[in-house]
Amino acid sequence: MKVNEKIESWYDANKRDLVFRQTQDPYQIWVSEIMAQQTRIDSMIPYYIRWTHKWPTIESLANADIQEVLHMWQGLGYYNRARKLHQGAITIMNKFQGKFPEDIQDILEIDGIGEYTAGAISSICFNKEQPAVDGNVFRVITRVEAMDDDITKLQTRKKVTEICARWMKDSNPSKFTQGLMEIGATVCTPKNPMCFLCPLQDECKAHKQGNETEYPVKKKAKPPVELEVYTYVLVYQNKVCLSQDDQDGLMKDLYRLPQYALPLSINATQLKKRKHVFSHRIWHMNCFYYECEQPMELEHCLWVDIDQLKDYAMVTAHKKLLISVMGKHLF
Ligand code: SF4
Repeated sequence: MKVNEKIESWYDANKRDLVFRQTQDPYQIWVSEIMAQQTRIDSMIPYYIRWTHKWPTIESLANADIQEVLHMWQGLGYYNRARKLHQGAITIMNKFQGKFPEDIQDILEIDGIGEYTAGAISSICFNKEQPAVDGNVFRVITRVEAMDDDITKLQTRKKVTEICARWMKDSNPSKFTQGLMEIGATVCTPKNPMCFLCPLQDECKAHKQGNETEYPVKKKAKPPVELEVYTYVLVYQNKVCLSQDDQDGLMKDLYRLPQYALPLSINATQLKKRKHVFSHRIWHMNCFYYECEQPMELEHCLWVDIDQLKDYAMVTAHKKLLISVMGKHLF
C-alpha cells in the first residue's frame, strides 16, 4: 500500500467527529483553520460554532463591525487572527465578488492566509494536490524521515513540504490532508507518540531507531522579554478609565487599563501583583486601585461607564484584573 493510501484508509476508520469536518465550504474551513492555530481543538469548537452561526457567510463577516469581531474572539488570544479574518472577508468581497477563490495564488492574496492555510483550503475544499504543512504534519514527516534539519530553517520547511507533496501524489487530497493532520494530532503526539496505532509504522525511521521524540529537531527559542509595569484601575463615580495605547504592538485595537513603565504620582491602593505571559513578553504587573476626585486626563485614555464595560474588547490580563476588583457580572 502506498503512503497516501495508508493515511486515507486510517483516516476513514479513525477520524474524530469534529463539527468542521461536516463541511467543505472554504469559508468555514478557513475560519476553523485560523481558530485552530495556537488553540486546542476542544477549546476552539464553541467559538467556531458561535462564529459561523453569527456570520455564516463571507459577506456577513465582511459587514461586521471590527469591535464586535474582536469581542467574539475574546478568550482565544492572538487577536490578529480575528482582524485578518475580517479583513480577508472584505478582500474576498472586493476582489473576488464575494466568492472564495479556487486558484492557490488567489487564495494567497487573502489577508492572513499563508502557505499552510492556502494548502489546507485548496486540498480539503477543492480537492487539489496542494500540501498543507502545519506543526502536526511537520512532526509526522520529520519523524518518518528521521530528519536532523533544524525546523526553524526555511530550507527544512521546503524539504518537508516537498516530501508531503510527493506522498500526496495521486491521493484523495481532501482525505490525505485531513488524515495526515489527524495522525499528528492524535497518534504522533509531541511527547508520547502511540506508534502501535500508527499507519506509518513500517516506513517510520525514527520509530525504527526508537528515538521518535527527538524529532523534529529545533534550536532553542529566545526567552521572552520580562517587563515590570504599573497597572491602574482608576475609578471616577460610575466610570472606569480605559486606555487605547497599543504602541508596544501587542494586541492592537484592544482596550486596556492605563499601564506604564513607571508608577503614577497618586496615592493609590496597591493590589496583588500579577504576571501575564505572552509568547515573546512577560508583564510583571504592579496593580493599583484609585478612586479619583475628578476624571484624570491621561494620554490615549477615555472614561467609560462601568455597566458598559462588556461592550469593550479588552486585553485578557487587564480584564482579569478588572474582574478581580469589580466582579465578573460586568463582563
Ligand atoms: Fe509518529 Fe510513531 Fe507513527 Fe513514526 S510510527 S509517525 S513516530 S506515531
